[in-house]
Amino acid sequence: MQTYAYGFPRLGENREFKKVTEKYWKKSISEAELKSGLKAIEEGMLSAYEENVDKFPVGEMTMYDNMLDTAIMLGLENYNTPDEYYELCRGKDALEMTKWFNTNYHYLVSEINSGDFRAAWNKAGEKKEEYNKGIPYYIGPFTFLKLSKGIVKDSFKEMLLKLADVYRELIKDFDEVHIDEPAFVLELEADEIAAIKEAYKKFEGLGVKINLFTYYEAVDFLSDLYELPVAAIGLDFINGRANLDNIKKIGFPEDKTLIAGVVDGRNIWRTDIKKTVELVKELAGVAKDVVISNAAPLYHLPVTIEGEDLDERLLNKISFAKERLNELKLIKEVFEGNTEAAAGWNEDDSNYGLNQQIKDKISNLKDGDFVKSTPYAQRDKMQREILNLPLFPTTTIGSYPQDKELRAKRAAFRKGSLSEADYKEFIKGKIDNLIKFQEDMGLDVFVHGEFERTDMVEFFAQKLDGIATTKKGFIISYGTRGYRPPIIFGEVSRPESMTIEEVKYAQSLTKKTVKGMLTGPVTIIAWSFNRIDIPVKEVAYQIGLCLQDEVKDYEEAGIKIVQIDEAAYREKAPIKKKDWPKYFDWAAKCFNLSSISKPETQIHTHMCYSEFGEIINYICRMDFDCITIEATRSKGDIIKDFKKVNFDRQIGLGVWDIHSPAVPSVEDMEEVVRGSLEALSKENFWINPDCGLKTRDWPETEASLKNLVTTAKKLREELK
Ligand code: GLN
Ligand code: ZN
Repeated sequence: MQTYAYGFPRLGENREFKKVTEKYWKKSISEAELKSGLKAIEEGMLSAYEENVDKFPVGEMTMYDNMLDTAIMLGLENYNTPDEYYELCRGKDALEMTKWFNTNYHYLVSEINSGDFRAAWNKAGEKKEEYNKGIPYYIGPFTFLKLSKGIVKDSFKEMLLKLADVYRELIKDFDEVHIDEPAFVLELEADEIAAIKEAYKKFEGLGVKINLFTYYEAVDFLSDLYELPVAAIGLDFINGRANLDNIKKIGFPEDKTLIAGVVDGRNIWRTDIKKTVELVKELAGVAKDVVISNAAPLYHLPVTIEGEDLDERLLNKISFAKERLNELKLIKEVFEGNTEAAAGWNEDDSNYGLNQQIKDKISNLKDGDFVKSTPYAQRDKMQREILNLPLFPTTTIGSYPQDKELRAKRAAFRKGSLSEADYKEFIKGKIDNLIKFQEDMGLDVFVHGEFERTDMVEFFAQKLDGIATTKKGFIISYGTRGYRPPIIFGEVSRPESMTIEEVKYAQSLTKKTVKGMLTGPVTIIAWSFNRIDIPVKEVAYQIGLCLQDEVKDYEEAGIKIVQIDEAAYREKAPIKKKDWPKYFDWAAKCFNLSSISKPETQIHTHMCYSEFGEIINYICRMDFDCITIEATRSKGDIIKDFKKVNFDRQIGLGVWDIHSPAVPSVEDMEEVVRGSLEALSKENFWINPDCGLKTRDWPETEASLKNLVTTAKKLREELK
């Protein structure tokens, strides 16, 4: 039995990819140094494969994103120098970026205008020549097209067939190729499946062995998939458990190899080798030839657990990418009869982090525990009296610019060269300045600025018990950006209040209302590695209870508004819509649990996502008083979505797109508000930016907020 791995992280164990690329962006290294730096990383990836597995792709390395590289291969984009390439990624007219399936990786979206595809660059072919090892790697034509925008919507089949001709050209000279088609796991229409079959028919008779990979979920059209002229089919048996039932039911074609994804590419718990060998045996009873692989690309994991100083008991339970390669080796050895090969690998059964008391608390929750005792209409009345806000109240979403000085102080504090007392004093000073700044701007509801937080999830992970954070466990988010997902390993509890001190201090400096600021349970789970030994909703309710206690502490401290951010509410939704009701049921409930509070306390939530139509009914299940959302880019649609459900709560439509450094004018912002007032009542309308200001600079923040407050005042005067 052979092993086959793919998707090894390019970020590097110490984020070498980020370092070398960003040095080049700053022009502190030359183009030649950039190239040799990237080459060293690529060689590291290839040797990790070579040392551990039998088969692996070549050509996965990219300077920024493989979807962009595919567009270049197909002649849709082009570049001559690295600078031109990076322009496409992050220049003025860069391609739009969006989330890759239900992961937190973001790819660059191509726009297809004419369908004039051509074989402009055989990236994988060049790599094969350079290294003469590995199997040339391609993102498949269907996935590329399905995830692009432009005319593809109306002429999908025609485009796909044209594309297949180009792919034929690209792959025809190889013995064997690797093609990723994760979009095969989406819920596809019959005509899309027919188009796939027709397109892949073009590869028939080429004499090229195609290893076709699907992942992230199960494929719904297996029997059609079997008809494609490919040599091997990769299926995900971790997140696509339905694949197992399906192949047991309908079998597997005799003339093809099954590439069984049996080690997890999305989560970090060690593979149970014994159980997995049993699974592989079961699969070998159905398919004649079985190869084992990871179940999803490994770049959703950090590189290695080596060098992490986590508690031994936790460390012994987890695997990152390198360890996954080793697991494939172990499964193979045990499968082939060396039963002792995996001894000790996944035998840690310590109860580290487990807490029966908290478990009981969760199982004792009753339906009523998720429901506020006072309905919105009544709360609204009480809150209006207490808060006494003007028409079109203005506020911000939480964070303010985190500048060089702040980052330097934080680094010094972490290194130990700045004492905790001095660091706290510094943060207090930042809050002093920010309160004064908000007074000067004339905003109505203030925030404390989140200066003490680097990452909205990691910050809470560090304060909660049952969640660990890593030292260098970065995974890629987009381009050179990485983040460190915390690890939820046990029952989650809150040893003490997490955010009260700073917010209370901010409130003590002003008569205006300061909003407390929390990250919601769905978002904490979405951006962490989660437990798999209990249902995800139980973890969500545990976090919900911690946040509920935090809200109570705010109330005691005299804070009248609390915002609970659920940035990942849509992102965490399963790939297949048929699984949505179950997900949104717990997602809404854990938010509601977090926000159980006195009726006088106004609960806000915030979401940064713009296509609300498909989830609007699920948003309405969250019992907040006010929602602030991203809307600057597609306001028309959003308003229609909210109108459809007769939305009657308060809403802050973002009037300033904070993802761009441009300063919006009063006219720009007025237009957003006026357009929305057709569907939303003016009494419920807040005016705010569309997300946090952490990544902006002070000058544009000041200019934009001035315009924002002017807009509110103007409309207030006119429409009162
Ligand atoms: N309160 C957070 C902030 O302002 C929200 C960030 C987000 O939605 N991604 O930074
Ligand atoms: Zn946001």
